[in-house]
Amino acid sequence: MTFYELAMGMKVTLRHLLHYRPITLQYPHEKRLLPENYRGMLALLRYDDGTEKCVGCDLCEAVCPSRVIRVISAEVPNEPIKRYAKEYDMDMTRCLFCGLCVQACPVDALGMTREYEWAVYNKRNLHLNKEQLLAIGDRSFPNREKRLEFQHPNVAFFNLPFPGQPLKESQTLT
Ligand code: SF4
Ligand code: SF4
Repeated sequence: MTFYELAMGMKVTLRHLLHYRPITLQYPHEKRLLPENYRGMLALLRYDDGTEKCVGCDLCEAVCPSRVIRVISAEVPNEPIKRYAKEYDMDMTRCLFCGLCVQACPVDALGMTREYEWAVYNKRNLHLNKEQLLAIGDRSFPNREKRLEFQHPNVAFFNLPFPGQPLKESQTLT
């Protein structure tokens, strides 16, 4: 080892000492900035008219590697061939926050929020039902999408008794 190498090493040490800034944050008074793609607590979402997005297809339950999700679906009253989640539970003590359920959902009914302060004394409080998951979605995703019937007229065409059914393009032209 030469004197030059020692001097260069000391230079790095001195620079660190002179420009030292503590990186410890005094949580909970100070909080870290979360990355844009942070995967926090899961939530169920609604359309802008308050309707639940979930169609009870069970795909999220099937894809979840930790068996967190339990879905029991039923037919939507007065809207044949359309289903919804009659019961929807998540046991968040098992969740890996892998995001597979969000990716699998065909109607974007699930979202990952930026909430992470979910430490509880009783782990049963992390067994969330549909109403709790919808409430998380309501506060984390205030900007809601229009119902699928209004986004894609073909969906409305097959959902004949939908009360607010928009006209198809061909119907508006005539
Ligand atoms: S984030 Fe992953 S582990 Fe958690 S519920 Fe979704 S699929 Fe399951
Ligand atoms: S959240 Fe999505 S994937 Fe899961 S049951 Fe509902 S519609 Fe299907």
